[in-house]
Amino acid sequence: SMSADNLRDTQAELRKLYDELCGLGLSLDITRGKPAPDQLDLSNGLLALPGEGDYRDAGGTDTRNYGGIAGLKELREIFGELLGVDAADLIAFGNSSLQLMHDVTVAALLHGTPDSAEPWAKQGTVKFLCPAPGYDRHFAITESFGIEMITVPMNPDGPDVAAIAELTANDPSIKGLWVVPTYSNPTGVTFSEEVTRALLEVPAADDFRIYWDNAYAVHTLVEAPPAPHPVLEWAAQAGHPNRVYVLGSTSKITFAGGGVAFFGASADNLAWFSKHLGISTIGPDKVNQLRHVRFFGDADGVRAHMARHRELLTPKFTLVLDILDDRLGDAKVADWSRPEGGYFINLDVLDGAAKRTIELAGNAGIALTAAGSTYPYKQDPRDRNIRLAPTFPGIDDLRTAMEGVATCVLLAATETLLT
Ligand code: PLP
Repeated sequence: SMSADNLRDTQAELRKLYDELCGLGLSLDITRGKPAPDQLDLSNGLLALPGEGDYRDAGGTDTRNYGGIAGLKELREIFGELLGVDAADLIAFGNSSLQLMHDVTVAALLHGTPDSAEPWAKQGTVKFLCPAPGYDRHFAITESFGIEMITVPMNPDGPDVAAIAELTANDPSIKGLWVVPTYSNPTGVTFSEEVTRALLEVPAADDFRIYWDNAYAVHTLVEAPPAPHPVLEWAAQAGHPNRVYVLGSTSKITFAGGGVAFFGASADNLAWFSKHLGISTIGPDKVNQLRHVRFFGDADGVRAHMARHRELLTPKFTLVLDILDDRLGDAKVADWSRPEGGYFINLDVLDGAAKRTIELAGNAGIALTAAGSTYPYKQDPRDRNIRLAPTFPGIDDLRTAMEGVATCVLLAATETLLT
């Protein structure tokens, strides 16, 4: 609603602020959702576990030796409860759920799923649906295999199921759907029961798979996370027992580089994937799994541990939201999420202004996630989405970075409005 003259005056003031910002010689990074060192310290007890002489699980298995592709039952029981999956339907594997997503895709491409007439790679074009804004590394997996990605809108209660149903019903080459059902990366959205059940029911190819990446199932910023949807059970009720792969890990619970990853699925899918995993390894790192069992004891142990993460993270999220409210609240040139969990704040600036905002911040020494990263092929159709990752920097650096980001958002907005 500002006149062009007013806008030009405002821009001149913002330019001055921006020049001062550049003069600070900053080198700050709010690009990736990594745990901060004080969060990693919460799990230092792991470093001394399981301890000399403690290497057998409850069933008497010597965890130091080869074998046991499904991983330790005690650990699967703990995380099965947190992921809404029976321990019998869950594998505990290496340190990365992303690797499991990659490997299960490779297996489908080269061998076909239990429901594929032929390997995906022999079926011609293969497509995945990508609710966006979404997780860039999901899109990187599909892009690396030449799988065509189709963007689907995200709503406040999950992806647009009507759009998904329309696509899957008419195109059997659609084989996958990437989703993050709890505190989504980057929107913070948690899927409702209605959307979840509808996703399980959409008409689709027999070998269509939902990658239910519950990476943030317990990563709450409020009193308690939502109860996990028992998605495998609901998939079976919907008549599509093999449709869902549940994924998760302790990467942002214990050590991002030394945690344990999980894969949950129907008996058919588990037998199929275990067979392929068993070609690549004789078994996972069970000593690390035992360490995690000893460290947590039970699911309540994980919940108590997450409350300690929350204490460290809440001030950071509050700080970012306060700065956004304070600096951008009146200007009406941006919207942002108020997540109740997860690792990100989703910032939407004016259409056409995200790249420029990120460029301005970069030139001032503040690294933001690359423009477009939250969309397939890094193409944000409206050039407006920016993913903020407040967890890693210390609070003072975060304050400096966010004040700078706010200046860049405003300056880029004046440029957009004046062209
Ligand atoms: N899935 C989502 C949605 C993530 O945001 C991340 C990390 O940022 C990962 C998976 C990575 O998981 P992992 O460390 O288990 O490979």
